[in-house]
Amino acid sequence: MNFITIDKSNWTKGIEKSRETYQIFGPVEDKNGCRIEPLEAGVQPIMDADVTVMSPKSVLFPQTETILTADLDESKDDHHIMKRAKQQYTPRAVLGIRPYDARAIQLVKLNFDNPDYQDPYWCDAYEATTFVGLGVNRPGPCDFSTSTGCGPFSEEGLDVLLADLDDRYLAKVLTPKGEAWAAACGFDAGADAKESQALFDILRKEAEKNISTDLAFDKLAQKSILDLYEAPFWDDVAFSCINCGTCTYVCPTCWCFDIQDETKHKKAARFRIWDTCMSPLFTSHASGHNPRESKVHRVRQRFMHKLKYFVDKYDQGIMCVGCGRCVASCPVNIDIREVCKTMNNYEKK
Ligand code: SF4
Ligand code: SF4
Repeated sequence: MNFITIDKSNWTKGIEKSRETYQIFGPVEDKNGCRIEPLEAGVQPIMDADVTVMSPKSVLFPQTETILTADLDESKDDHHIMKRAKQQYTPRAVLGIRPYDARAIQLVKLNFDNPDYQDPYWCDAYEATTFVGLGVNRPGPCDFSTSTGCGPFSEEGLDVLLADLDDRYLAKVLTPKGEAWAAACGFDAGADAKESQALFDILRKEAEKNISTDLAFDKLAQKSILDLYEAPFWDDVAFSCINCGTCTYVCPTCWCFDIQDETKHKKAARFRIWDTCMSPLFTSHASGHNPRESKVHRVRQRFMHKLKYFVDKYDQGIMCVGCGRCVASCPVNIDIREVCKTMNNYEKK
């Protein structure tokens, strides 16, 4: 690990130089808000943007992804045989990702890359990606990331952590991937390690003072799944939900998807498309039966997955990094912090 000072007057030149090696992703903004997208040459990331409306999960898990293709022309020897779709996994660098989103990718990794199953699409994209994070100097009102095992200057899942010091960035290079990115940018002005770490510690403590929510989930692991599942509070939690699915689409740790097939002339393709447990169609069977037929079933599923099933299965805390996106985006103000508190304190009578 080493520290580098990057004068902001050199930042743009360095990023443009790195395009010889990397495809660049970063925050952009339009009337619909801020999100992380591929940046064309000359377009610079908005590094000081607030929390992006959509998380960067789409860099590794696109909203729609062609996974298999087949030729339907029966004159071909391999007709109707599904094959992996051709994709490019050239090196890419995600600039300005926030520490809670980098931790979210590590939580999602438990699903897509584990001893039982390695999703080739997600894993190849992950291997190709370098994460250049930016510490959050002024966390927003919905940020509760300190409660969830990360915080505004967490290093987990990052290759480089930047601190914004107005006229310059101080970069903490955390991995060989991070070293390669810094070299590709030509960022090589070393900084004193002890002084730099002290500066990071000061910034972290100052930033953490802005986060007022202290979310407790210490009792969730001990609770009975059945007690929580059958608890009487779910009707109240779900009452105002309109099942719009916004909370799951904006969430960096939600990974549910649907598989759809399409044919056109002599070509076939199979797609993976984001889906949401808040939709009735998500669990609708071909027979017409739906095991989660009412919205209370679906709302319960979302919170039980994030706050109980995941906790029990992986022993990595809750499936939430405290970015606050779902809190800010829910049209009826359903707040995961309140639900977590209710579940954590619930005692069956
Ligand atoms: S954003 Fe709110 S209303 Fe929409 S599905 Fe989620 S909890 Fe329900
Ligand atoms: S559940 Fe809400 S606060 Fe937690 S990671 Fe997802 S969007 Fe962020």
